Amino acid sequence: TLYDLLFADLSGADLERPATIDGPTGAATTYGALRAQVDAVAGALAARGVRPGDVVALHSPNVPAFVPVFHGILRAGATATTVNALATGDDVARQLADSGATLLVTVSPLLAAATAGAEASGLAAERVVVLDGADGHESLRDLLADGLAAPDVAVDPATHLAVLPYSSGTTGRSKGVMLTHRNLVANVLQTAAMIDVTPQDRVIAVLPFFHIYGMTVLLNLALRARAALVTMPRFDLPEFLRITQEERCSFLFIAPPIAVALAKHPLVDRYDLSVVREVISGAAPLDGELGGAVARRLGCVVRQGYGMTETSPVALLVPDTGDVPLSSVGIPIPNVECMIVDPATGAEVPLLPSGVSDPGELLVKGPNIMVGYLGNPEATADTIDADGWLHTGDIVTATPDGVVTVVDRLKELIKYKGYQVAPAELEALLLTHPGIADAAVVAARDAEGEEVPKAFVVTQEGVDLSADDVVSFVAERVAPYKKVRQVVFIDAVPKSASGKILRKNLRATGVSA
Ligand code: ATP
Ligand code: MG
Repeated sequence: TLYDLLFADLSGADLERPATIDGPTGAATTYGALRAQVDAVAGALAARGVRPGDVVALHSPNVPAFVPVFHGILRAGATATTVNALATGDDVARQLADSGATLLVTVSPLLAAATAGAEASGLAAERVVVLDGADGHESLRDLLADGLAAPDVAVDPATHLAVLPYSSGTTGRSKGVMLTHRNLVANVLQTAAMIDVTPQDRVIAVLPFFHIYGMTVLLNLALRARAALVTMPRFDLPEFLRITQEERCSFLFIAPPIAVALAKHPLVDRYDLSVVREVISGAAPLDGELGGAVARRLGCVVRQGYGMTETSPVALLVPDTGDVPLSSVGIPIPNVECMIVDPATGAEVPLLPSGVSDPGELLVKGPNIMVGYLGNPEATADTIDADGWLHTGDIVTATPDGVVTVVDRLKELIKYKGYQVAPAELEALLLTHPGIADAAVVAARDAEGEEVPKAFVVTQEGVDLSADDVVSFVAERVAPYKKVRQVVFIDAVPKSASGKILRKNLRATGVSA
């Protein structure tokens, strides 16, 4: 089980190391204290009727208390379904009903959404625990006060569901993803083989724990490595820089929006970030030039990984050997197999002895592949084929030695007069413009009904750009069919909590150029 991997062999000096540090206040909890809390939470949950196989919902931003509760739920043999901290009451209700959760753990700032969700899904008010306390609700302190031992539960790691995270909902409604203990344990060991987090590292924990990326690399990988997690409840650039400097964070797991800030924001130069030794980005395409700019500015290693909720999540990683380009997502992690197929025919796209392969859909296999989507066998069958290959929906190319580069999502490719244009390529190009702070590209229709690339652009403060400037900047640098044909200026690019551009929101705005 995940507990066996993370806590069972904890001993000696490791017991005294800090496991979590609250970024805003600096308050630390040691590994020894954390394990005692995990056990006590498991005991308290069992005393409240939580049995192996039950589902407990955890709805909180990154605070230190998240950690013992998450691992306590698993320790009790239950399954943790993590709820986005930005979820509305309706979202909470939907996830509670879909997952069948019998207990909801939240924090006081989210109580309104949590209460509305619990009511709408028929969960009794006394089944809502509020970590930091609220009138009429039990708190974490109440759970720990019982001082009960963890229950003796026997679970089969190969089949027992550890977590039920929901996918980001980038392309549609988010899906509940069934992951076993074996899936999570495998992904920790697979990533640990390629990411060298050490007990001396302090890891900034700003990526949300409720999303699979933060869950695996922070709650699981970093804790397995006995590093310290420095928690931040939300991303805010000045606070992120202050905490990184003050708490001496040496390892930054980030998503591309943070990379954009680290590469381009003037504020970054005001902080001493020399202790940062490695930055790893994932969850959405990181352009090689942008990543390179971060590496130069911070003077550290920058790498990229690729994954999805369905793969626990990591599937590919750029190794730290320095010979694999940062613009790629690297190679499969140990025990992951990959294949590239033509999405129309299913035929394998061969690697070429010299040069880059044709683009095709990435398929993956390995011990980290989900059991399936909760309550949706059709979607599961559409995603995992009879031979066990998981169809990622992402279009990639590969070099002769198997280094993979993501082109974009199959569903996001813009079809212009029979050509395919990848929004991610145009977004990366737009970001190289010094006057552009952020950008997103989606498919729009022109007057003839033709699908065309449309750019949403955020300008740097004090910069005056016209739509024509943007159109010609792109036109000078790409093949004619890739030209941006419509431009809209906006204040901010909408992004999900996990760091993805919400292109579906931009398409829905219907703003015309
Ligand atoms: P949904 O499946 O609900 O529409 P989602 O696919 O965004 O949402 P996640 O499981 O969080 O939900 O994200 C997985 C996806 O993120 C991948 O399929 C891929 O499109 C994208 N992704 C992850 N890492 C990278 C990366 N390094 N480069 C490009 N894309 C990436
Ligand atoms: Mg997906």
